Amino acid sequence: MAKIKFQTPTGMHDILPQDQVYFQKVYKTIEKAFDFYGFEKIDTPILENAELFSRSIGMNTDIVEKEMYILRTKEGKDALALRPEGTAPIMRAYLEHGLNTYPQPIKLWYHGPFFRHEKPQAGRYRQFWQYGFEVLGDKEAIVDAQTIVIMYNILCDLGINDSIVKINSIGDENCRGEYRKALVKFLRSKKNEFCKDCLRRTKTNPLRVLDCKDEKCKELMNEGPQIIDYLCEDCKTHLKSVLEYLEELKIPFTLDPFLVRGLDYYTRTVFEIEAPVTEEEGTGVLAGGGRYDILSKVLGKANIPSCGAAAGIERIVSAMKARKVEGVYASMPKVFISQIGPLAKKKGLLIFEELRKAGIKATESFSKDSLKAQLSRANKLNINIVIIIGQKEALRDMVIIRDMETGKQAEVNIKEMVKEVKKRLK
Ligand code: AMP
Repeated sequence: MAKIKFQTPTGMHDILPQDQVYFQKVYKTIEKAFDFYGFEKIDTPILENAELFSRSIGMNTDIVEKEMYILRTKEGKDALALRPEGTAPIMRAYLEHGLNTYPQPIKLWYHGPFFRHEKPQAGRYRQFWQYGFEVLGDKEAIVDAQTIVIMYNILCDLGINDSIVKINSIGDENCRGEYRKALVKFLRSKKNEFCKDCLRRTKTNPLRVLDCKDEKCKELMNEGPQIIDYLCEDCKTHLKSVLEYLEELKIPFTLDPFLVRGLDYYTRTVFEIEAPVTEEEGTGVLAGGGRYDILSKVLGKANIPSCGAAAGIERIVSAMKARKVEGVYASMPKVFISQIGPLAKKKGLLIFEELRKAGIKATESFSKDSLKAQLSRANKLNINIVIIIGQKEALRDMVIIRDMETGKQAEVNIKEMVKEVKKRLK
């Protein structure tokens, strides 16, 4: 049989303990923030009906065209997709469970793994982790502004104080059509200069041209029409209010007339928050979001005006490391249990559980038999209180408590042990 070297699938990665401390920091920080801002947690399945995404994100988007992992169940009836993003599943859950019948808005947050079959590169994975939140059932501009503020402030809480918000409005059903017409006219007038992909997009989804990474296309677009000049009065007023709120809160932002983001369900406000990540990754987009007033209609229901955002945890962790932000480390054990002999081992296990019940963090070295090796381990861990139990002590339900600093030892009954340890820990 051919030898296979098993490793993580391309674009996917293990999160080892040394990185978990940063992930923990992110989780602890967002949990606190979302609790403060009045959000409730939601988990949706990793798999969803693939059509949920093709309808909402849009057929002619990179995610749906190229990046979705789709699998068929054994019976071959359902096409299920590994979720590429969190907003459509949350809107699905909101509609499915009738959350519109509760006082609005509904404010939900989540974190978890997402999947996109992208070309792997620094800061870009095929399985990546996001946290995000949605405010469903509210059309006011203040919600858009607060969405940005929340995302910006969480990044600050995580030690990323130098991020900047890029913002744009992509209009709504009333005005986007006019812009699209002007854009197509412009693209056609320059059809020999844009790249092949852009020419294809001119027919399928012209707004995607604004996302093109090709430098020449970007330069050409600078002469093209800007959506901001085509916004209807309502969209203009909405954008103006969002910007005023941001100014009031002194959130650093720039208006980016070419920001459209890669998903079709957005209306009006779209934004991204970027910051220097690492030398290798350069400046990266850490988070993005926007308003999606028509998403629920695409899913067959009435409009539920909503707004939300998501952030990429891997990129945030890279940015945290670059800024030397500390992760969250487990607390150190206070007591070491050391045992000699088979009977003492059994008692050792019991003592360990007694300490756990008393809320005293302990550690052990049950697999080592030599007292010297065990004491040296306690020393290495900087633990001052060692409980020693040998055959003689085990037979009499006694333990020895050793102060590692002074080397003094005292014998106490097992029943008194927790009390004595607590006294010494004070
Ligand atoms: P999006 O859902 O595309 O708006 O992405 C929101 C955030 O998730 C981005 O700003 C990135 O930080 C992160 N992200 C998106 N795609 C990837 C990926 N393939 N690998 C790592 N992070 C990603």
